[in-house]
Amino acid sequence: MAQKLLPKEDIPEEIEAASYALTLLKVAGVNTWDELETTPLQPKRRAALKDIVLDEDQRRILEEYRQIVRLVCVGPPMVTISVCETCGNVMAVCRSSSTKCRRPKGCAGKTMRASAAARVRIEE
Ligand SMILES: [Zn+2]
Repeated sequence: MAQKLLPKEDIPEEIEAASYALTLLKVAGVNTWDELETTPLQPKRRAALKDIVLDEDQRRILEEYRQIVRLVCVGPPMVTISVCETCGNVMAVCRSSSTKCRRPKGCAGKTMRASAAARVRIEE
């Protein structure tokens, strides 16, 4: 059954990339992007992954933010990406860590973090 990933509105592309990656990794049944690229998937998992249709923009984002995509980990512990809403600092963080910006020079900003993107069935 073909599915697509739902993009969220008004989020930085770094967050978007990480949220797509988290969903794809979960579907594939692997922990990291490196694992996805190097490990043979179980046939069922491979089929499920194939059913997810990425649009052009989503493909571009996953390619362009490859470094970020490689940082996320399904876990546990889950590692995701956070972006400071004030200074734009991008960090890899655990799901349970503080939402304060950890920029060394001191930034009072709050961060936004990526969670797995939702999947919806494509109507045919
Ligand atoms: Zn900041």
